[in-house]
Amino acid sequence: MDAFLWPDTVGVSAAGQLSIGGCELAALAREFGTPLYLLDEATFRAQCRTYRSALARHYPGTGQVHYAGKALLNTAVAQLATSEGLGLDVVSGGELFVALRAGVPATHIHLHGNAKPRAELEQALAVGIGKIMVDSLDELELLAQLTAGCAQPQPIMLRLTPDIAANTHAHIETGRATSKFGFALDMLDAAATRIAAAPGLQLVGLHAHIGSQIFQQTPFEQTIAVLLDCAAQLRERHNLPISQLSPGGGLGVPYTSDQPLPDAEAYIAALARAVVAGCTARGLPLPALVIEPGRSIVARAGVALYEIIATKPIPLAEGYASATRYLHIDGGMADNIRPALYGARYTAMLANRANAPETELVHIAGRYCESGDVLLRDVRLPPAAPGDLLAVAVAGAYTLSMASAYNLVPRPALVLVAEGRARLIQRRETYADLVARDLPLV
Ligand code: PLP
Repeated sequence: MDAFLWPDTVGVSAAGQLSIGGCELAALAREFGTPLYLLDEATFRAQCRTYRSALARHYPGTGQVHYAGKALLNTAVAQLATSEGLGLDVVSGGELFVALRAGVPATHIHLHGNAKPRAELEQALAVGIGKIMVDSLDELELLAQLTAGCAQPQPIMLRLTPDIAANTHAHIETGRATSKFGFALDMLDAAATRIAAAPGLQLVGLHAHIGSQIFQQTPFEQTIAVLLDCAAQLRERHNLPISQLSPGGGLGVPYTSDQPLPDAEAYIAALARAVVAGCTARGLPLPALVIEPGRSIVARAGVALYEIIATKPIPLAEGYASATRYLHIDGGMADNIRPALYGARYTAMLANRANAPETELVHIAGRYCESGDVLLRDVRLPPAAPGDLLAVAVAGAYTLSMASAYNLVPRPALVLVAEGRARLIQRRETYADLVARDLPLV
């Protein structure tokens, strides 16, 4: 087992039973059913602490860590992040609703998004949201109008598109000039002029997020340089000081043993150095440094657990490597769209026979009615049979948060595990849930 791909608390008993957080997965499958998602509390908390302590150690100014809720969000997850002293980034009225329900103070929440509907902006303003990350001139105009009569100006940051390549999958690269997100750099002056004429808005900072699953430091350092150039431009041309700077989130995580293991501490140290050096070079005061990790906090804390339902031999065919069988599982693309969406790869093992020799190369096929629903390709496992349990590692990020009820299969439950205790934090969807919004004709 490559322990660095599994939660900190992973263990295997002499009898070959995989456990997380002191709970055997086979027992969890019996108690909660499958497919089941597990969240290891210790790993989640440790990742939050790593970021906070690294910022405190390496950045001489103020540092803030905001958990990017889109990676995985429900009430308990928001509570965990808040209890570790993190703020929260949300991208919709729904995420904002959950964050507030979890008791996250509105002032610790940032609202992002390239197409925030008016009603969601009004919702955010009404609850006194900490900051709105403004994405376009149209949004700026609308916000200027909505806040015109407000007693307190609404703090905002401008999301800029720094035109930097992040060397990641095209679907998760967001910093190039052609991206749908953020202000092009040549729109900065127009934005500043509009803000100066908007008494209800207070520009506090500049933001960029260049993408996700990024393994190199250089694109982040380049992004900081662009943001600081923009801060200098705002000060010189518009007398607008910038007190906060955010290079977003995006640090990569390994999903398979051949991928690098980025060091969050080294990443933070590099960001801190870039901000300090860049501010010194431009004569700017040190801004508060706001980072927004999602995947790197929650991905490895999550494990997906499936039951193998059936198997099918694969005739040797071109393009299909040497896998000899499909193992059909009771979940797939509706609970984890990443392999079908952008070819994401995963690591898996048999949770009930974790010590058995991995002698067979197989494909893991999901249950959904799409031939593209293959969760893992060419994975080496012990010879498996119906009834065996498959655990998939690094399953915490962008899985359940992107889940659908395709084929009207109820979405899986999420269980928080810690010190031998398993707590249901999101129950399995029911058939009643599936029809809750259906209105019969008669
Ligand atoms: N910040 C913003 C604005 C984002 O859009 C995202 C993800 O898409 C993140 C932060 C989190 O990125 P990651 O999960 O890669 O850390």
